[in-house]
Amino acid sequence: MLFHIRLYDDPPRPLQSGDIYRATWLDVEGKPAYGVKFPNNLDWFTLQSASNCIHPLHKGKLHTCWKVEGTPPLITVSPSLGLPGYHCWIRNGEIVPG
Ligand SMILES: [Zn+2]
Repeated sequence: MLFHIRLYDDPPRPLQSGDIYRATWLDVEGKPAYGVKFPNNLDWFTLQSASNCIHPLHKGKLHTCWKVEGTPPLITVSPSLGLPGYHCWIRNGEIVPG
């Protein structure tokens, strides 16, 4: 399955799988945070900490768990995302399960 990411400044509710939106409440030190809606109603945020992060400066301060490249919605995220029951990559604005 392939989802396309859509960017909203003021996202309509309910969000749909593949939607990307600004998550201003999670911005850290000038870095804009984005949320992505995944299947199973999961939300992932670009500046959130990975569950297995052991970096002492996590939570988006000086260290971010994911590298986000490109201009939203055409972002590429590395490494891949391991969400509960769902593993995928985000490449050039597309959610690629795998
Ligand atoms: Zn980390």
